[in-house]
Amino acid sequence: MLQGEVIKDGWKSEEVKGALDLCLACKGCKGECPVSVDMATYKAEFLSHYYEGRLRPRHAYAFGYIDRFARLASIAPGVVNFFTQTAGLATIAKSVAAMPQQRKIPAFTSRSFSSWFHRRQRQSAEANGKQQVVLWTQLLVDGLHETVNVWVIRNNDKLTVMMTNQALPGHSIETERISMRLLNASEPHAAWIERVDEDHANPRKVWREIGAPDYLSDDEAERLMASSELIRKQQ
Ligand code: SF4
Repeated sequence: MLQGEVIKDGWKSEEVKGALDLCLACKGCKGECPVSVDMATYKAEFLSHYYEGRLRPRHAYAFGYIDRFARLASIAPGVVNFFTQTAGLATIAKSVAAMPQQRKIPAFTSRSFSSWFHRRQRQSAEANGKQQVVLWTQLLVDGLHETVNVWVIRNNDKLTVMMTNQALPGHSIETERISMRLLNASEPHAAWIERVDEDHANPRKVWREIGAPDYLSDDEAERLMASSELIRKQQ
């Protein structure tokens, strides 16, 4: 192109593929480009056409189907970890997936996130019964808080009020002080508060404290799960 020549091979052009191989698809250029040219999307489109009717490299299958492999591995994570974490066997596994030998294959945890979540959901349903999300028409929030949202969940004689505060795009999150009233609600016998913020239910903070590891040991995974639990405080 720099020599003023037209690329003749279209989607099968080796020169274009070679140039796009250097792109990490990070989308950094999209924000910088005055007309928002999105090289990452162009690369995906080009490679899709380039590989039509051809086999892709082995690592593309290994990582492209990682969700399916991970689902299979979650059936017997111990067996998979034996093959991927034992020296020698790991070398073979990395060769099969066309992975660089200096990289480490992440170990699978003994309990998947979805099984942990479903068990927690079942325990919560057993403890609280069936819940219903309602729009409480007599909910008063004072002032204008464009980043605050409020929902009310009713479960027989219990009410759960969920409030969120979000950051606007390109801004850091602001602390909002709001006062909320539920009109025509009976006097509460008891009230609890559960928080998710920088200091509560924040596994990311704990992950940073333990050195932001790329791969978690079973103990670290348990610690992060424990730190994500909601803590109920009576008011
Ligand atoms: S997406 Fe853009 S900025 Fe990111 S690697 Fe590719 S060309 Fe470079």
